[in-house]
Amino acid sequence: MEKLAINGGMPVREKKLYYGCQWIDESDVKAVSEVLTGPYITCGPKVSELEKELAKYCEAEYAVAVSNGTAALHCACIAAGLKEGDEVITTPLTFAASANCAFYVGAKPVFADINPETYNIDPKSIREHITEKTRAVVAVDFTGQSVEMEEIRAICDEYNLVLIEDAAHAIGTSYDGHKTGSLADMTCFSFHPVKTITSGEGGAITTNNKEYYKKLVLAHTHGITHDEDQMEEAPHEGIWYYEQISLGYNYRMTDFQAALLLSQLKKLDGFKQRRQEIVKRYNEAFSDLPEIIVQKEIAKSDTCRHLYIIRLDLEKLNCSRREFFDAMSAENVQCQIHYVPVYWFPYYSHRGYEKGLCPNAEEVYKGIMSIPLYPKLTDAEVEDTIHAVRKIVENYRKN
Ligand SMILES: *Cc1c(COP(=O)(O)O)cnc(C)c1O
Repeated sequence: MEKLAINGGMPVREKKLYYGCQWIDESDVKAVSEVLTGPYITCGPKVSELEKELAKYCEAEYAVAVSNGTAALHCACIAAGLKEGDEVITTPLTFAASANCAFYVGAKPVFADINPETYNIDPKSIREHITEKTRAVVAVDFTGQSVEMEEIRAICDEYNLVLIEDAAHAIGTSYDGHKTGSLADMTCFSFHPVKTITSGEGGAITTNNKEYYKKLVLAHTHGITHDEDQMEEAPHEGIWYYEQISLGYNYRMTDFQAALLLSQLKKLDGFKQRRQEIVKRYNEAFSDLPEIIVQKEIAKSDTCRHLYIIRLDLEKLNCSRREFFDAMSAENVQCQIHYVPVYWFPYYSHRGYEKGLCPNAEEVYKGIMSIPLYPKLTDAEVEDTIHAVRKIVENYRKN
């Protein structure tokens, strides 16, 4: 048996690998520098071009580009008309922003449990958490795999709930032949560098609903409009005139970020293909290891995978998740955990959320670990990661 690096053996790799990494090349740099030396670095034509291309890619009527994914979720909650006293159902196995956005508008996040095999929110659990105060569902496409849209859509229609999809992980995914971004009432994306395509910081919301679209536009630019049809004073004094008709924020994206994202968007299908190849290779490589549980796929989701998660079957191993994680780091494969259940955080526990709310999510959390997945990974790096996992499993395997 190979000696683990954590016990003084040779590490599988000399150089550290990380769980995620952006891929910026010369064409991206050129696209950004053209904007930087041009007349507009913000509020120019690139953002409009990006919104058009993004809507086209996502098969949606409208897209609004914003400063980050969290702003996208906030704007969606505003457009949905959520307010104090309302309840919003979401998953605990997500980044905090998926739930925090309810608090931003005075509403209360309510956590439904996950399916313990797919790790996505369980439609049955959504149904069980509906009260007369429920107004919306924030459904997260965890790791890039689409939520069970058909079931969740039916529940939202039955109870008249706004369906907001947090697709921060899922640009490029399709559900039943329809692009993510075309199915929910509003779909929110993030373009943070660890996500599939990036603009540094960045986000967007897509929708097919004109009323939501108008509200999203207002929410991300101070509630100010230049559209005469929306103004109270018409005819107005002159072309400089505009009106603030609601309370909004400054959540705009800059033109050089939009240029970067337009350039990245062209590469998305290639990135998707490479991510799928790596997922397939990992699935094959771990199929004979009973100690490693892989994420179950949702048949209708053609997934552009953002994260590859291995789940340790700790009953079959003589180590804790922490020891496994540290052993991977010592082999120079830096993993990450996605995510600590949101309601475990102090901000939530101080507001009355208690451990035990979602037993499936808490149980899954104990054993999960994200291993490197990004399109720039070479085949050799993928094999190194597999080697590290196998080496550690062999060392800690019971009997
Ligand atoms: C990254 C992420 C967000 C927030 O996006 P930012 O662009 O970082 O604000 C929201 N939800 C999920 C699930 C995310 O992974």
